Amino acid sequence: MCYLLIMQKLKDSFGRTFPYIRLSITDVCNFKCGYCLPDGYQVDKSDNRKFLHLDEIKRLAKVFSKLGVSKIRLTGGEPTVRKDFFEIIKVLKKEARIEKVVVTTNGYNLDKKAKMLVDSGISGINISIDSLDSNIFRDITGHNRLPEILQGIKNLQELNFTNIKINAVLLKNINASEKDFNNWAEFIKKNEVDFRFIELMRTGDNLNYFNKYHISAKIFKNYLNKNNWIYQTFGKDAGPSLNYINPKYKGKFGIIAPYSKDFCKTCNRLRITSRGDLRLCLFGNTGINLRHLLQKDDQTKELQDLIMRQMKFKKESHYLELGETGLTKNLSTTGG
Ligand code: SAM
Ligand code: SF4
Repeated sequence: MCYLLIMQKLKDSFGRTFPYIRLSITDVCNFKCGYCLPDGYQVDKSDNRKFLHLDEIKRLAKVFSKLGVSKIRLTGGEPTVRKDFFEIIKVLKKEARIEKVVVTTNGYNLDKKAKMLVDSGISGINISIDSLDSNIFRDITGHNRLPEILQGIKNLQELNFTNIKINAVLLKNINASEKDFNNWAEFIKKNEVDFRFIELMRTGDNLNYFNKYHISAKIFKNYLNKNNWIYQTFGKDAGPSLNYINPKYKGKFGIIAPYSKDFCKTCNRLRITSRGDLRLCLFGNTGINLRHLLQKDDQTKELQDLIMRQMKFKKESHYLELGETGLTKNLSTTGG
């Protein structure tokens, strides 16, 4: 008799598949972004669980790899503050055989880390820069570190590293004027870097900030249309961004608008928090802890079955437009 080995794939009830995991490796962050951690990272004394350790991450990634995951994004908090950050990348690539390991960072010390990042074999880096004006940057993040981040980007480029994306949260009366947009246009004219504005999202902690600074990404869309940027309907990369190109510019512009209709239709990612909770959606109320099944190498099958069973609970949409923020106090716990 011939038995066919069918590889189990992560798939939900709406036909969406999940080749991509966002893995938060720490809640700790050294910045104080107004929309995320305005008072900086605070230790949660009621929660004495430690962040996932290297062996747990290895077991988790191996199982996801078996379930068809080919891309893992390391995020946080600030992922690069972990002392074993480069060791984690190595384990994901070499032991779990994850094809693409990518990183989201606030760019802290990027000038010094650029070479190590390139040497680690990561496939891409997303750097958060909310403004090219160093005073505005400092006001938003609480740190005067824009020059080292921009130098870090130069260093990456000199090492021929190309998959660089910059993300900024769009904030009314702070970084959303025509002048701000023109500054970014100048930047991507010369730099092969994709720049995307993310619409500010409401979380459990930031209601006042949200009410004060949220602005629809339409303002940026109108700017792009007025300035002859062309919406890229084909070749869209595996992400939530609407991309715009212009032949006179080396880089691309993008918009990530979580409140827009259809945002969830193309969802292809699941999230793991730094303490090992599987989150089916950034804003979902559903979260199950996987940690008890990450303790020994022989728990693989049980872990795989638990993850597969969870897939039927993934909802069609985040329902953010109805004011739902789910379990998300701020994005430092789930990685944005
Ligand atoms: N510390 C890293 C960083 O800032 O890039 C990684 C974690 S951070 C939570 C990931 C992304 O989420 C960043 O681009 C950040 O700007 C974005 N973010 C955080 N809070 C947000 C919010 N309330 N609305 C929209 N984006 C947010
Ligand atoms: Fe830290 Fe990133 Fe949150 Fe800013 S957005 S406070 S850099 S985790």
